[in-house]
Amino acid sequence: MIEHFLTPGSIEQALELKQRYLDDATWFAGGSKLNSAPGRTEKTVAISLQRLSLDWVDWDNDCMRIGAMTTLQTLRDSHHLPPALYEALGFVYSRHLRNQSTLGGEIAAMEQESVLVPVLLALDAVLVFGDGETEALESYLAQPADRLITEIIIKDPYRACSTRKISRSQAGLTVLTAAVAIDEDQRVRIALDGVADRPLRLRDVEAQRLDGEQLEAAVAAAVFPRDDVRGSVAYKRYIAGVVVADLYADCQQKGEEIQ
Ligand SMILES: Cc1cc2nc3c(=O)[nH]c(=O)nc-3n(C[C@H](O)[C@H](O)[C@H](O)COP(=O)(O)OP(=O)(O)OC[C@H]3O[C@@H](n4cnc5c(N)ncnc54)[C@H](O)[C@@H]3O)c2cc1C
Repeated sequence: MIEHFLTPGSIEQALELKQRYLDDATWFAGGSKLNSAPGRTEKTVAISLQRLSLDWVDWDNDCMRIGAMTTLQTLRDSHHLPPALYEALGFVYSRHLRNQSTLGGEIAAMEQESVLVPVLLALDAVLVFGDGETEALESYLAQPADRLITEIIIKDPYRACSTRKISRSQAGLTVLTAAVAIDEDQRVRIALDGVADRPLRLRDVEAQRLDGEQLEAAVAAAVFPRDDVRGSVAYKRYIAGVVVADLYADCQQKGEEIQ
């Protein structure tokens, strides 16, 4: 249970506090996960990110930069958002939740049902940390560390990209979320959540440059979902293949429109 709520006024102060309290302390963003059961934290010290001025969306030429404390609703309301990211933000079904949750919190929370991480992976998002270091989102997810995320960078936001969430109803449990993108060199990105312990890219399948039924089969064989209340292993494999093949066809069409 949180007993001390600290409100540093700068990133340096926040990092100093984390250095002082180490594992007893947690970064506190929107608090939607930290305050909710069963995600409620066991940590005793909360280091609030509220006063760090990390709530902004900026453009650096064509590169999109998003402060980690930007709420999902503010992001969705911002101008020139890549269409697939806009759509994925709408997958978070409740406006109240979008008003509370931040993009940094969504990434760091490592939720099993993250509907935003696949599209961020397909767009090759890069994280910036409090000490100024950067890391690709994909490698952060593979080895998460308790580092302060300050910024999310998307260098090529307008590549052809499509995303879809599969669930029984808008507010129901998410079976899986998939995103596919094709960059200007025609390289494919395929990202999924809900078919493994964490969101992931299917790099082996990407390299094979398949489409249609062959792509469906390759995706179905490359994922290792669990049998649970959301669906059987066979169903999740099947639907992952169908959705990815569909999104790929969608991206090819978008790519032709962009050219
Ligand atoms: C009713 C309800 C429904 C939900 N549904 C979903 C859902 O469908 N899909 C989904 O993915 N999530 C869902 N969540 C979980 C939650 O909303 C998300 O994980 C949320 O995006 C967390 O954002 P936050 O800003 O509120 O983070 P917080 O709750 O403040 O923090 C979450 C975690 O991230 C860490 N953190 C936060 N910001 C940073 C940062 N900048 N740098 C490093 N670490 C940081 C915190 O230390 C903490 O461990 C739901 C929550 C609720 C209450």
